[in-house]
Amino acid sequence: MASELTPSLDIEHGQDRLGPTGRVMPDLPAPAPLASHGPARIIAMCNQKGGVGKTTTTINLGAALAEYGRKVLLIDFDPQGALSVGLGVPTHQLDVTIYNLLVERGHDIRDVIAHTSVPGLDIVPANIDLSAAEVQLVGEVAREQILARVLRPVLDDYDVIMIDCQPSLGLLTVNALTAAHGVIIPLETEYFAMRGVALLVETIEKITDRLNPRLTIDGIVATMYDGRTLHSREVVGSVVDHFGDQVFHTVISRTVKFPDATLAAEPITTYASGHSGAEAYRQLARELIARGGAA
Ligand code: ADP
Ligand code: MG
Repeated sequence: MASELTPSLDIEHGQDRLGPTGRVMPDLPAPAPLASHGPARIIAMCNQKGGVGKTTTTINLGAALAEYGRKVLLIDFDPQGALSVGLGVPTHQLDVTIYNLLVERGHDIRDVIAHTSVPGLDIVPANIDLSAAEVQLVGEVAREQILARVLRPVLDDYDVIMIDCQPSLGLLTVNALTAAHGVIIPLETEYFAMRGVALLVETIEKITDRLNPRLTIDGIVATMYDGRTLHSREVVGSVVDHFGDQVFHTVISRTVKFPDATLAAEPITTYASGHSGAEAYRQLARELIARGGAA
């Protein structure tokens, strides 16, 4: 008891260990290797705002988890196909994509999965065909559960499945949230970042009530952070004020290395392995595992 009442060195020097979110950084050791794989935990990467870092986070968090020996499947769930392109899949040449798995019977997801240049990192690609799916699925029976059904055959083959959602809260995103165990919300570090997040949280709560009681918010990750500006620090501070411990300690800084890596069709973890941006996504992977958001 006495020691708890005595100011400890930690408190005296606590300032030194405060991370960019204004909280003491936890220790995030390298995760233990896995002895076996699966069943997968499914994570939806969601924010109905575009350009906030959903696709970049899906690619690079996925690649970092694969580096730690996890078997990772990424689902491109945006008709823009940016996830596919960012991992070197030539989307316009594809005969079968996630679209066909959703709207046609008789396909096997294993025939659509492509390997990437990163060992352990696979992808189900998408292209513009997917833009028709939303309308076509409206009349289907159990239309919210179609993606969950598509993923079922490969759940035991992967440790993590991440779904890169399109910037909307329409039926495709509802399918992603219905299939998922958790949601990660990337937020761009700028003043209006939280506009719309209340609606997203409300949507997640509705899905939890009506369709998928296991769904939880795994965390909120601040992206495009610039630690040199008061602006960035204030925005992250207000996100932490609102969402508390749901906010990941890891923040992703703004750097041109991310668009550069996308142009090179590689994750930053291989394109610029020693760059701080690569290290940030490795840290996010360790934090997700430490939180129980991934095996
Ligand atoms: P979303 O999928 O939410 O629309 P993206 O991940 O595609 O967002 O990111 C939008 C744009 O911003 C892309 O050009 C991407 O390369 C760039 N970008 C993403 N994260 C960062 C970052 N941390 N620093 C700089 N640019 C970034
Ligand atoms: Mg995207």
